[in-house]
Formats: sequence, structure tokens, C-alpha cells
Amino acid sequence: MANSRLLCDLSTGARMSQACAVWNVKTNVCTIITEPHAPYEVLGHEVRHCFEGHFH
Ligand SMILES: [Zn+2]
Repeated sequence: MANSRLLCDLSTGARMSQACAVWNVKTNVCTIITEPHAPYEVLGHEVRHCFEGHFH
């Protein structure tokens, strides 16, 4: 999605060049935002954010 960078910058942290994960406390939904065709390792990284929060 074209504005992924903007959405990621608005999130609480978890900044990567290609993706980020945004945890919505109100709805209990973790949203992973990536640029198109992100590699699986990037997706896995963001999924881990959903389960573990900040692990860096
Ligand atoms: Zn990360």
C-alpha cells in the first residue's frame, strides 16, 4: 500500500524500512503493514511483533 510508510511512522514504534506492526488495544487487532511483495522474513518479523511486542 502506498501510504504504508506514513502509517508506520504514526505507530508507536516498530519502525522498519519495509514494514511495521500496529497493535490496536481497543479492538484487540494487530495490523501488519508492509510494502507490496514484502519477503516472508519481513512478514514473520512483524507477526512476531504482534505476539511479543517490542523484541528488538
Ligand atoms: Zn520490528
